[in-house]
Amino acid sequence: MPPQMDSQDLLTRLVAFDTTSRNSNLELISFVRSYLEDYGIASDLVSNDEGTKANLFASLGPIEKPGVVFSGHTDVVPVDGETWSSDPFKLTADDERLFGRGTTDMKGYLAVVLSLVPNIVERRLDKPVHFAFSYDEEVGCKGVPRLLDHMVDRLPVTPMGCIVGEPTGMLVANGHKGKAGYRCTITGKSGHSALNHLGVNAVEIAAEIIAKLRQMNLDFRARGPFVDGFEPSHCTVNTGRINGGTALNIVASSCTFEFEFRLLPGQEAKQLFGTIQGFAETTLIPAMKAISDDASIDWYELMSYPALGCDATSSIEHLACQLTGTVTPVKLSYGTEAGHFASRGVPTIVCGPGHMKVAHKPDEYVEREQLDICSAFLRDIADSISVA
Ligand SMILES: [Zn+2]
Repeated sequence: MPPQMDSQDLLTRLVAFDTTSRNSNLELISFVRSYLEDYGIASDLVSNDEGTKANLFASLGPIEKPGVVFSGHTDVVPVDGETWSSDPFKLTADDERLFGRGTTDMKGYLAVVLSLVPNIVERRLDKPVHFAFSYDEEVGCKGVPRLLDHMVDRLPVTPMGCIVGEPTGMLVANGHKGKAGYRCTITGKSGHSALNHLGVNAVEIAAEIIAKLRQMNLDFRARGPFVDGFEPSHCTVNTGRINGGTALNIVASSCTFEFEFRLLPGQEAKQLFGTIQGFAETTLIPAMKAISDDASIDWYELMSYPALGCDATSSIEHLACQLTGTVTPVKLSYGTEAGHFASRGVPTIVCGPGHMKVAHKPDEYVEREQLDICSAFLRDIADSISVA
């Protein structure tokens, strides 16, 4: 048996890999893979098209039965422009906290999961434990869909539950909003601004679409639908970036902007997108085309992930609430991969160490106590699927 590492040792190793989403995560993945191998656990890697990043999937116990998935992402957000008190990729500690990029979001959870491997391999598992570690969560949950394709192929039965360990302060969350982001590119017709009746001003067309998006946002705010527990309790629409035009006295020939929908469970991005695209096609395109055949409005989906719903209470939610003492499960304002797991029929909750309020910030940290609570919780989960 290899020398046992506790969660702090493992977190030290994981933080030292700079897995900012723009970088490869392969060094981290190969560390995890060889760590698991030391305990006799084989893992599957599921790579991106370029082969520069990989998801990792591994199972212990009888995979013909529905088991529990421990899931987390391996990438972290950039430290660019942030002022840290110490090297963000070198774990530092005080009596209560461990500092470093990803300590709370969410290498702390991964470290706890890995620290329990020696404990789990000793057990007689009645149901399996699966590890599902993804890439590119922080840039729109782009890695996890193929991890899930693999999981569905690999397992003869759907898991009974999944615990996504994003930071919730170790409370159980059973819902989060979904998100879909788009880029819209308008091609107009340039010309002298004094003769703008001969051109198509792409900036002004963009403004019309953005005003419509703004109206959609105001309508959701005023009229819902509303789901209690979400902050805010309605869908939101936001235009985050715009770039267009070249000079004051030129009719702008191009303009690009990016917008997003944050969706409640049950809302379809496709439908909201259809509303805005339909508006553009019926209200704006005909007048643009009347002046220039080359004028166009093009759309590109940047990213999307589904909401995590909150219908019937699953057995994993019930168990997790009991074990963590969560009286009323919370709903998260931020997105996670949980919606993707749920969309494959896996009952999924979010529950992990640390607090989102310190994530994506300089001097990100996780409290030692949170790691201990998480470790006890996952042990209890393992107890619940072990033969006594
Ligand atoms: Zn995260």
